Amino acid sequence: MAEIRIDLEKCMGSGNCSYWAPGSFDLDDDGKVLVRDPATDEESRLVMAAEGCPVGAISIWHGERRIDQGAP
Ligand code: SF4
Repeated sequence: MAEIRIDLEKCMGSGNCSYWAPGSFDLDDDGKVLVRDPATDEESRLVMAAEGCPVGAISIWHGERRIDQGAP
């Protein structure tokens, strides 16, 4: 199963990730990303969330292999 890694220092609370993978990502009261239940979204949605993050705060991994392409 894919592993989600987050760099909270980078997150600026845009909410793009919760649009692409609403079961996996949410925002906390401070407007920072919160990981919910990644098993509820297809892996492709996790990758879209990572690649859609405007500041590159999310990466998706299989072990030590990163499977998303990062922020544009
Ligand atoms: S898309 Fe990126 S910047 Fe926006 S809330 Fe998610 S992690 Fe934070």
